Amino acid sequence: MPLLILGSIALDTVKTPLEERADLLGGSASYASVAASFFSPVKLVGIVGEDFPQENLEFFKQRNVDLEGLQIVPGKTFRWSGEYMWDMNQRETRSVELNVFENFSPELPESYRSTRMVLLGNIAPALQNHVLDQLTRPHFVIADTMDLWINIAKEELLRLIARVDMLILNDSEARELTGQTSLIKAGRRIREMGPSCVAIKKGEHGCLLFGENHFFSCPAYPLEDIHDPTGAGDCFAGGLAGFLASRPISEADLTEKKQIPFEILRQAVVEGSVIASFNVESFSMDRLKTVTPVDISERYEIFRTLSRFESI
Ligand code: AMP
Repeated sequence: MPLLILGSIALDTVKTPLEERADLLGGSASYASVAASFFSPVKLVGIVGEDFPQENLEFFKQRNVDLEGLQIVPGKTFRWSGEYMWDMNQRETRSVELNVFENFSPELPESYRSTRMVLLGNIAPALQNHVLDQLTRPHFVIADTMDLWINIAKEELLRLIARVDMLILNDSEARELTGQTSLIKAGRRIREMGPSCVAIKKGEHGCLLFGENHFFSCPAYPLEDIHDPTGAGDCFAGGLAGFLASRPISEADLTEKKQIPFEILRQAVVEGSVIASFNVESFSMDRLKTVTPVDISERYEIFRTLSRFESI
């Protein structure tokens, strides 16, 4: 099943304590699309300027990412620049240039409107709602978000959350959104806002998944070499959504209950974590260019052993 992905497409400048790189392919939709493409074909919705390098477009095509929903308009591509501290969990945004993003109004091509599996990647919630309005009968909609939107567009975000099946956010965002210090209470509270399923990411400490009467704690992969954490969250969301799109989920589960069996959601969270763990091993998407299906299944097995222990 194809997966529709909306989000930002960017040229990033990233500085770590050891290195600085400019004009890297970035953006939430870019990372999520490449991550998802390991599991399913992707229909990309986004915007770039005429300065966007042709080689990036070729890369998307090679990865089975359909670009019919990509607007290429006069002007400059969205640019973001960030700096990581020695503790790579600490990041400062150095600059943001909205450029063509400023007047972006995503319009879905006819061939995208009936897509059933949807990932509304991190972008303004008004744009996420606008894309949702154009879909004829989506079966499972996943939304990713960030603290910026909780701070400047909370009402629009709450309207979105009420319409989606799964919300992905990180621990501090979950606390901020719900006013709860406990992540368990925050997960429950967000489910009461609409989504049947919530994934709360805890950076390098793994992820929590909440469903109806179900809970799963996904371990973190013990990574030794983190070169660039940019896009880890987007790769997690893309890998997870791509995996779900690739599963033969029964019509009854999707149409009647609007639910995916929890064991499949659990696998999806691990697959998302696997792709994210590869992505941070290099700048931009360089590591994902060389990852093979065998690499993915080997790391999936490591995740399995990490969370298994004997009974007494
Ligand atoms: P993450 O590391 O998962 O937070 O994602 C980083 C990516 O998000 C970078 O490649 C940026 O280009 C992109 N980005 C940064 N700020 C925004 C924003 N306000 N809206 C959409 N994408 C953004």
